[in-house]
Amino acid sequence: MKWEKLKPPEPDDPMCCCECDMDQYGCCCDCEDLDEAFNRWLKDGPPKGGCQSPARGAIVGKLEISMIPVLVLLPLLLRVAALHYLLGIIILTALPGLVLWYYYATHRKKRRTLFFLTLALFSLFYMYYLFITEILPRGDVSQLQQCTVTAGVILTVVCLIHTKRGPGVVANSLHEAHGHSQEANKDSAQHNGSIQSAASSGIAAELQTTKEALTTKWSTCPVCKIMRPPRAGHCRTCGSCVRRLDHHCIWINSCVGQANHRSFLLTLSVFLLTSLYGIGVVLRSLCPRQHLMTALLYCPGVYSQSSMALCFTCAWYSSIVTAGLLFLLVVQVLNISFNVTEREAQLALRNKTGQSRLWGLVIDTGEYSRGFYQNWVEFLTMADASVSPRASLTDLV
Ligand SMILES: [Zn+2]
Ligand SMILES: [Zn+2]
Repeated sequence: MKWEKLKPPEPDDPMCCCECDMDQYGCCCDCEDLDEAFNRWLKDGPPKGGCQSPARGAIVGKLEISMIPVLVLLPLLLRVAALHYLLGIIILTALPGLVLWYYYATHRKKRRTLFFLTLALFSLFYMYYLFITEILPRGDVSQLQQCTVTAGVILTVVCLIHTKRGPGVVANSLHEAHGHSQEANKDSAQHNGSIQSAASSGIAAELQTTKEALTTKWSTCPVCKIMRPPRAGHCRTCGSCVRRLDHHCIWINSCVGQANHRSFLLTLSVFLLTSLYGIGVVLRSLCPRQHLMTALLYCPGVYSQSSMALCFTCAWYSSIVTAGLLFLLVVQVLNISFNVTEREAQLALRNKTGQSRLWGLVIDTGEYSRGFYQNWVEFLTMADASVSPRASLTDLV
């Protein structure tokens, strides 16, 4: 396309396909400009007089107009979809398309947005709300099942909060630490010091780091202009370099990197287990005579009551979300098994330096892979990014 030639993508950033501004080419309506204007009003416009607490200020500062469609439209659309099964098919087919459209609309401008995080959290809480208010009164859900679903929802949120504490941003101090470790290595060489003697002076760990650092290659980020360790990447959406960057996840509104990759995977797994279990419990309550596998496709009489129809529609909605996230989990597990990050896979795909495996589900670069078992050991034991700035409360959104 014409606009791609004007500004080619940077080879270092696989998540950036094109930074061009479509407005120059005659895009007549830009909803994001409207978003931005409203966001400015939210942040700057309101209170005159009276004191505003820092916490409230932080929350208002994070508000976005893009959260409103989620909070208003999602329950409305699901209720309309529950009116008739044909409406259900149309709306539930269109919803993923609408979300994808919004994703590409925001992705090209590389802006952080709370839309997807709001959608994810609101969907989770709305499904749980319906479970409590519509399914429990039917009286066929045991206390154990109720506790399991509740524990799953709470655990998902706890894991999500942990994931949101930060991906492990590369800071200048990390490079300084790297420099110190190199100096330590020089000193030890001059004094003919062995690792054993260094251990007594407490720099054995530094020497180990030095050994690793000398065999690996640090590079300068073209945007941040800081030195970063191997496998680190720059995220344009967050505007920072992240250690062992995997990808920027729109659903958590944060990068997934060395510090939070494990908890990201845990969040995903806990959510999927809770969701699959919850869908099973709801379907068993709505269609007790049907087999669980066929109840989602055929549940006679479910549209005779509005509350039953709404729960059935929500079971379908949850199934679509679960299927999408299950695919993401499979890709993540395969990537870890081959010791490749999503960023490296995309780069290898673009530069044609990787091998496509398992029907294209994973791109094997062969650069870091040391076998299935060792790759998982490395992933599960890799250190958190120790020199990352501590996440503040406001960063959690
Ligand atoms: Zn950078
Ligand atoms: Zn990011």
